[in-house]
Amino acid sequence: MEPKIIFLGTAGDHYVTGKSLRSAGGIIIQVEDYQFHLDPGPGSLSSMKNFDINPRETTCVLASHAHLNHCGDINAVLSAMTLNGIDKKGVLICGKSLIQGTEKIKPVIPPYYQNFVERIIIPEAGKHIGIENIEIQTLKTLHSDPHNIGFKFHTPDFVLSYLSDTFYSADLLKQYEKSDILIINNVYPFGTKTKINVNSFHTTKIINKIKPRLAIITHFGKKMIQNDPVEEAREIAKQTMTQVIAATDGMVIMPRSYAANSKQKTLNVFQSQQQDTISN
Ligand SMILES: [Zn+2]
Repeated sequence: MEPKIIFLGTAGDHYVTGKSLRSAGGIIIQVEDYQFHLDPGPGSLSSMKNFDINPRETTCVLASHAHLNHCGDINAVLSAMTLNGIDKKGVLICGKSLIQGTEKIKPVIPPYYQNFVERIIIPEAGKHIGIENIEIQTLKTLHSDPHNIGFKFHTPDFVLSYLSDTFYSADLLKQYEKSDILIINNVYPFGTKTKINVNSFHTTKIINKIKPRLAIITHFGKKMIQNDPVEEAREIAKQTMTQVIAATDGMVIMPRSYAANSKQKTLNVFQSQQQDTISN
C-alpha cells in the first residue's frame, strides 16, 4: 500500500477547537501496513468517518502530551480501535502526563482504557522505539507540559518529523536533521509573541536550517486562521525556498513523493525499554 499522511484535524487552540472552525482530530500515518493515529484531539472519530478512515485499522495511537487538543478523544479512539477492549490489540505510545497527570491535569487515560491495548510505552524524549521496520524516535520539546514529546518516524521510504507543540530553540534543531518531511505546529502567524509554541517566523528558521523536501504547517490558532494559513505558508515558502503546505482538514499527502533516498536502519521488534514501558 502506498504510504499516506491524512490530516484529520488542524485546530491548534481552544478557540479554533471550541468553535469547530477546524477539527482537532490529529494526523493519520499509513505506512507498511500500519496505521498510526497521532494526537487524537476532539473530533477524531467524526473526522475519521468523514474522511473514510477505519478506526479498527489503527495499530498504534501516539499522543504527545496531555493538552486537550492533542488527546481529547484518545479514550474514544482506543475504544473504537479495540471494540471497547473486547479485541485487545495495538500499541499506545504517549507522553508521561497522559498516564500520570500533571500538577494541573489529572491522568487522561484511566487504567480501564489502558487495558484495551496490548502494549503501552511511555517514553521521555530521546528514545527509539522499533515497530517492525519503522523506528519512532521521540523528540525533545520546550512546552508548558514538561513531558511533551515530538515523534520522528524513520520508515523504509521516508523520514517524517512531527515536532508537536514546542517553542523555538536552536538547541532542538539537531534532532530534526535529515527529515524529508517536517510537520510543524505553527500556532501563530508572523509578528505574534509566543513563549510556548512557534510562530511563522520560528518556522522559517527551522525550515532554513533543516531544509526538508516538504514542510507542512498545521495546528492553527485563532490569529493564524484570521491571517489565512495559506498566505502564511506562501510567505514561509518564499523565505525558505522550500515547498510549504498549510494543512487542511482531510488533506492527504503521499510522502514517498518527498523522500530523498532514505533507507534507514530500523529495529525488527519493539525495543525493550524497561523504565519507560508498561506491559499489560
Ligand atoms: Zn500543548
